[in-house]
Amino acid sequence: MAYVITDPCIDVKDGDCTTACPVDCIYEGGRSFYIHPDECINCGLCLSVCPVDAILFDEDIAGHKQAYIAANREFFGPDVTGWGAPGGWERGRTSPLDHPLMAAFPVRKATTMTAG
Ligand code: SF4
Ligand code: SF4
Repeated sequence: MAYVITDPCIDVKDGDCTTACPVDCIYEGGRSFYIHPDECINCGLCLSVCPVDAILFDEDIAGHKQAYIAANREFFGPDVTGWGAPGGWERGRTSPLDHPLMAAFPVRKATTMTAG
């Protein structure tokens, strides 16, 4: 069981969830952040701060979004970063790479948020 980052994070990537995570198990790729499934302690704190509702609990994910469960795990594997289980984010541990699922996602045009 773990929390999973899904497509709404792609090209948004504001990093708010990383400041909420008590075990620093959220890592930065090129177009998306990724949660390490073996380091996540399922506290749910990240869920409450994500402005685009990109974070889901794996057991609640249905349909095509289930592919993001594997994508979060495989980001750390030999075919993407090869990081394995770093044991927590540390300064400088970011990657320009993405899992192919995220990399293939259509580029999200920047949106302008206006008040009032
Ligand atoms: S559920 Fe908790 S431990 Fe897991 S990624 Fe979110 S904040 Fe971190
Ligand atoms: S808070 Fe949401 S949009 Fe921001 S980096 Fe985390 S998952 Fe992505």
